[in-house]
Amino acid sequence: MSEIGERLAQVRARIAAAARRAGRDPASITLVAVSKTVPPDRIKEGVAAGIAVLGENRVQEAREKIEALGRLAQWHLVGHLQTNKAKLAVQLFDLIHSLDSLKLAHELDKHARALGKRVPCLVEVNQGSELTKSGLAEADLVPLLREAAPLPGLEILGLMSIPPFLENPQDVRPHFRRLRELRDAAVAAGIPGLRMDHLSMGMSHDFEVAIEEGATMVRIGTAIFGPRPQP
Ligand SMILES: *Cc1c(COP(=O)(O)O)cnc(C)c1O
Repeated sequence: MSEIGERLAQVRARIAAAARRAGRDPASITLVAVSKTVPPDRIKEGVAAGIAVLGENRVQEAREKIEALGRLAQWHLVGHLQTNKAKLAVQLFDLIHSLDSLKLAHELDKHARALGKRVPCLVEVNQGSELTKSGLAEADLVPLLREAAPLPGLEILGLMSIPPFLENPQDVRPHFRRLRELRDAAVAAGIPGLRMDHLSMGMSHDFEVAIEEGATMVRIGTAIFGPRPQP
């Protein structure tokens, strides 16, 4: 087995164990293999080993990889999206994890409708990470959902967050739990047409805790592809 294949198998085993601890079906958790900075050859190796969903954090980098590799897996956008790249993002991605403003919602809706599509999205909530300033403030979530859920070009499927990096993954648990509570509150708001099945949370360092708190998508880079070059 390739090195990536071995790492992938270990990650899958850990996902399954965490799911069982939480009394959940491992098949209800989607592994998004985050391939930012990973060259196309190694991505191919990962797909050959069984990766079905790839996550990228930059539109331009993803575009080049999709042109080089094609649609050998699903491509998700996990990084911040600027409104001026909304059109390209609608064309490229199977799921956008980072809807974080009404302006972006309207922009995505416009381009999706022009292409006769609905673009699946998660709404990103800001949980105070140092890594990113992106994401919506908690208080703005339900108002955004009320306005964005009816847009015909959008299909909002849940929430995403990038919580702060904390040395002990157990310390991240309250953030994961909070995202789940926000999801439940959004469902309880009874917004017509809104589906809130997904919680995209958990990375290499803390995905097991995220699964115990209800993650349906975990975004894992380093644990599969190895360390990235420092920027
Ligand atoms: C890079 C990245 C990940 C993966 O991080 P790892 O720690 O390498 O698993 C997940 N989500 C987002 C948004 C990222 O930018």
